[in-house]
Amino acid sequence: MRKIASRVSQLNGEGALAVYSRAKELELEGRSIIHLELGEPDFHPAAPVVDAVRDAVAAGRDRYCSTRGVPALREAVAGYLKRTRKLNVAAEQVLIAPGCKMALALAMMALIEPGDEVLYPDPSFPIYPSFTRGLGAKAVSYSLLEKNQFQPDLAEITAKVTPRTRVLIFNSPNNPTGTVFTDAALRGIADLAVKDDLWILADEIYARILFSGEYQSIYALPGMAERTIIIDGFSKSFAMTGWRLGYAVAPVHVVDAMDLLVLNTFTCTAEFTQVAAIEALNDSTNAVEAMVAEYRKRRDLFVDKLNRIPGFRCQIPDGAFYAWVNIEETGMPAEEVQRLLLEEAGVAGIAGAAFGTEGKNYLRFSLVSARNLLEDALERIQRVSLHWRAAVSR
Ligand code: PLP
Repeated sequence: MRKIASRVSQLNGEGALAVYSRAKELELEGRSIIHLELGEPDFHPAAPVVDAVRDAVAAGRDRYCSTRGVPALREAVAGYLKRTRKLNVAAEQVLIAPGCKMALALAMMALIEPGDEVLYPDPSFPIYPSFTRGLGAKAVSYSLLEKNQFQPDLAEITAKVTPRTRVLIFNSPNNPTGTVFTDAALRGIADLAVKDDLWILADEIYARILFSGEYQSIYALPGMAERTIIIDGFSKSFAMTGWRLGYAVAPVHVVDAMDLLVLNTFTCTAEFTQVAAIEALNDSTNAVEAMVAEYRKRRDLFVDKLNRIPGFRCQIPDGAFYAWVNIEETGMPAEEVQRLLLEEAGVAGIAGAAFGTEGKNYLRFSLVSARNLLEDALERIQRVSLHWRAAVSR
């Protein structure tokens, strides 16, 4: 057989999608499944956003458009970041892409050379190490441990920086732990980045889904605007996963580089979605606030009751919509707990190894189902916990 380029063999898939496929098979067999595996909100975009996309298509906004994104949306993103994160960024620093993942990929392609080292959190979004390796670079993990409340250990990161380290990636609130990095952690990372001249890739996709306090972006810290690329978008905060809309905020010369990559690959992001996204950012119906209030209720309900199930232990997440559950005390591998929950209880969650080696004893549940379904899921989990109760009480 003719050869596929070797870079592809460096990439890995996403665990959530494998569980989702099996869950769908079971549903076809007539089984009832509660889906807590994908990070896909069960909300839909607010009505004015849907109206706006319809109007944009009707108005003929369905042509090729600017490779960097529609100017009005880039302006709106700059205004939105000022309003919600107190950031001073110019519209020229914003590049629109079809999804945060694409914005992330473009930034990584623009910054990472073969042979470079990239620091990324473990556990975290599996694409960080996968795409790093795909670019011929070395992915070097730093741990987010439960004993540190899933905060980064700056001594560990410092020890892992070498002359080849070019980029440090982090995601706050973090998928899967829900941790928001403390101000001290952000300052520590920023100091290190300045000292060792690193790029920072700050994946802020969950910045709006915050259960207390105001979001602090590392971008605002001294010396960071020139070395930080913010990745954010519409999938989670505005429940627009299938629209494929994200953006990067970067120094203008990085935007220029990413723009050339856009031109050489997908040309532009669909114009009608961009026009409607301005309406999402305006959020005239306060849809984000209502959605976050609901996620908070789900978090409180799920985490509280889950902590009463023998063998399960979960810290309260500060943001995002995941529960990251330690299952060590069940005495079973996480993959087996995942299997029992899906096959016997009809509850789809993901074994934590999908997010890195530190996820070995964890399961991730996405709180993207209504509260009555979460209650049902908890009852089902309680029932199958009979399998490991003896191990817990030992
Ligand atoms: N970054 C993180 C941390 C995520 O969890 C996700 C999606 O799950 C993405 C990026 C990708 O977002 P998008 O769907 O906009 O490409």
